[in-house]
Amino acid sequence: MNIHEYQAKALLRSYGIPVSDGRAVTRAEEAKTAAGELDGPLWVVKAQIHAGGRGKGHFVEPEAGEKGGVRLARSVEEAAEFTRQMLGRTLVTVQTGPAGKQVNRVYIEDGSDIAKEFYLALLIDRQTSRISIVSSTEGGMSIEDVAHDTPEKILSFSVDPATGFSEFHGRRVAFSLGLTGNQVKSCVGVLKNLYRLFTDKDMDMLEINPFCILKDGSLKLLDAKMSFDGNAMFRHADIAALRDETEEDPKELAASKFDLNYIALDGEIGCMVNGAGLAMATMDIIKLYGAEPANFLDVGGGATKEKVTEAFKIITSDPNVKGILVNIFGGIMRCDIIADGVIAAVKEVGLKVPLVVRLEGTNVELGKDIIRNSGLNVIAADNLSDAAQKIVKAVKG
Ligand code: GDP
Ligand code: MG
Repeated sequence: MNIHEYQAKALLRSYGIPVSDGRAVTRAEEAKTAAGELDGPLWVVKAQIHAGGRGKGHFVEPEAGEKGGVRLARSVEEAAEFTRQMLGRTLVTVQTGPAGKQVNRVYIEDGSDIAKEFYLALLIDRQTSRISIVSSTEGGMSIEDVAHDTPEKILSFSVDPATGFSEFHGRRVAFSLGLTGNQVKSCVGVLKNLYRLFTDKDMDMLEINPFCILKDGSLKLLDAKMSFDGNAMFRHADIAALRDETEEDPKELAASKFDLNYIALDGEIGCMVNGAGLAMATMDIIKLYGAEPANFLDVGGGATKEKVTEAFKIITSDPNVKGILVNIFGGIMRCDIIADGVIAAVKEVGLKVPLVVRLEGTNVELGKDIIRNSGLNVIAADNLSDAAQKIVKAVKG
């Protein structure tokens, strides 16, 4: 689960980590008062969307001005004007995709005088099953290019969970960034608190870019991206409350309400499968036969007819879907429940694309009978490979 920069900064602040004072606004009329509460003489006006690259992004609407989603203002009036230009507009960045994201909230911050911009991140490294700390002197807006062109400029190491964070981890980062004297001490303190926040809240990613030295020599975190382990949200009501559903794919949001493991993809073949492994294999075999999956979907073991109906409706709501493959190996899941769910959904929303159904396992004959007697135009398949070939043929001709 991702949160906005202004929310991430409030968390950082509550852990004693240095961030600028700021105000989040959702209406242009609030901007002038909000900016007036900050010191100046520099204000930073920042579009709040769940995507990075805002500074180098651009707006779809010409009224939003030429510049990107992070702008420096020299007066309260200018800060208010930038806020007005951004609110309600669509910001396109390298991370939003070409459609961009609508800006519903703007964060106005007290501007800092930057001397140096560094990169800092904490993340779960799945290879070592540990938290990794990543840092680089090349902070700012294009860490992806640094990783590609000059990987030697990126320091990365992991922390042993048995001993946890030690000050030498912090010093290692500080020295690699060329810090000296009191800055080393501040950097160690910041990292210690970041590590504590990361583990306290079950984060899986925390990215600070830029992590700055200001002209007065102090350290400050000027940007923050945080992502949390969705499976741990049950024990973090405070974090779960920060969820902004308007930032999520509507299909994924609907799926999460029904406890379905659904991930939207770009292809043309919708998949309804039980079991994560079988779902991945189904996606692989669709690709093998020359098409692309439109989604990952694991309906799970104990799904009810209602849940299956909902899953089918979510799949058909995707305009890119040109065909649907139902691939069920009934173990705990019964084939007749899947058949009932598919038919109930088709009755409700209709079926405008070819549907291939492969059923195997518990109550398979009953499931096949239900589909056969439904009068639906379903293409039956006997095994995974047969099913994949049939749906690809039906879609691609
Ligand atoms: P991103 O483009 O989405 O990563 O947004 P950031 O929050 O990182 O802002 C982009 C850039 O704006 C930063 O890399 C900084 O160079 C600049 N910036 C952000 N905050 C300030 C500030 O307080 N003062 C100054 N001078 N520049 C800032
Ligand atoms: Mg940034």
